[in-house]
Amino acid sequence: MSNIRVRFAPSPTGALHIGGVRTALYNYLLAKKHKGTFILRVEDTDQTRYVPGAEEYILEALAWAGITPDEGPGQGGEYGPYRQSERKDLYGKYASQLVEAGHAYYAFDTPEELSAIRSDMEANKEVFRYDNVTRKNLNNSLNMSAEAIAERINSGEPYTIRLKIPRDESITVNDLIRGEVTFQSNELDDKIILKGDGMPTYHLANIVDDHLMEISHVIRGEEWLPSTAHHLYLYRFLGWDSTQPKFAHLPLILKPSGKGKLSKRDGTKLGIPVFPLAWEGKNEEDSFIGFREFGFDSNAANNFLAFLGWNPGTEQEIFSMDDLIESFTLERVGKSGARFDFDKALWFNQQYLIQMKDEDLGKKLVPLSKAKGYNASEAKLSKVAGMMKERVHLIPDILEQGYYFFEPIKDYEEKMIRKKWKPERVLLFETLNADFRSLSSFTAAEIETTTKAFMEKNELGFGDVLPILRIGWCGTMKGPSIFDVAEFLGKEECSARLNTAFTKFNEIKNPS
Ligand code: GLU
Repeated sequence: MSNIRVRFAPSPTGALHIGGVRTALYNYLLAKKHKGTFILRVEDTDQTRYVPGAEEYILEALAWAGITPDEGPGQGGEYGPYRQSERKDLYGKYASQLVEAGHAYYAFDTPEELSAIRSDMEANKEVFRYDNVTRKNLNNSLNMSAEAIAERINSGEPYTIRLKIPRDESITVNDLIRGEVTFQSNELDDKIILKGDGMPTYHLANIVDDHLMEISHVIRGEEWLPSTAHHLYLYRFLGWDSTQPKFAHLPLILKPSGKGKLSKRDGTKLGIPVFPLAWEGKNEEDSFIGFREFGFDSNAANNFLAFLGWNPGTEQEIFSMDDLIESFTLERVGKSGARFDFDKALWFNQQYLIQMKDEDLGKKLVPLSKAKGYNASEAKLSKVAGMMKERVHLIPDILEQGYYFFEPIKDYEEKMIRKKWKPERVLLFETLNADFRSLSSFTAAEIETTTKAFMEKNELGFGDVLPILRIGWCGTMKGPSIFDVAEFLGKEECSARLNTAFTKFNEIKNPS
């Protein structure tokens, strides 16, 4: 493929959904694979839907994911500006050109008139559409003399410009993912392309910019497929069909249940992130947790997102960004919806954690440990990371599940104690604690040897002793090698913990 130029064209109307990041990622991968150009274009022509902070959010989310634009509002480039509000003077002439060529027309219908027609039709269980049938009876330039049109426009009467969709035609796009998709023109409305305030709508601005920016491929979500019919007409009417980009509409992302489209509310309902970063909305309903804050590594998140709709056709699942760039093709993107399997996202993150160096994890744990008020060195945090990383899915889990490395035990797993603790053995276990205290070097190997010698001498099995030590030192049966944990905690702490635990175990067995 030669000279690939792709764009990610979000509208800053709120936080960028994780599906948007996938769209950006696929665009980026295709561009990088073919040494092409990945463009970020901010589509902010709809001022009524503009949300302050949303553009910054988009930039930060892309930066977090490592999806860096080659051209964009931050990078600049030869085809700029890359924010549509800064290009607004550019679109009017194309709308006028379409009117002059008879492919668009002025519509003077006021919003009140249109909503009155809409309600009348709704009363008859009909749906109003401004289209190639109804336009004959509406307040537009197709039904007026040239003088009447000029008079209205000169008198400053507000108008919109609408695309004149022909009657009885079919129009086909050869989608790179879906194959041929054919639309019937009689099903299409005459979309507004220029609004009363002189601003273009999405449809016009998007096509003009894709053309001027020499976009080769439009890769976007399936929800834009119906608009493609209008876009094809725009290309044709503007005389640009020979350089029209290729289209690829990505499959929907489905709810974790697989039933229906994933929505931003699903995240809140299920307590899982469906946004890349946390977003503080005006109220709680509009505030969302993010993959980043949830503890995901961005490489793992990308790997997971890449698989939401694409697969390499092999068994390999772990792909770095470079691997993805090498392997990605649009041919291997599927048509059917991709289930947002959050457990799979956690699994990916775990694979990345396991691959990460303990020292790197230790560094990442420093701020989290500070936030918890722990006074732990980076070296200690790296050690704990090494012991815990195969047992957790997310970096913060290391400190959540391994809190006992840094603070006293909060809870003892009582069910296990009721099963395993024999109060009559307390004196015996105290001798073991004394044996530990007498060790000159309190290493995992020495602690293990001492424990085994104790078991042999007293004819006790692993099941009699290890659960007692584990719960005494950690409170829980889950965790890394108990001897490694003990070495980390140190002699004094281990001895004190066992003393506290034995009293506690007796209470659990014989509540007063
Ligand atoms: N501005 C549109 C959006 O918010 C862009 C759709 C497209 O890529 O054409 O997703």
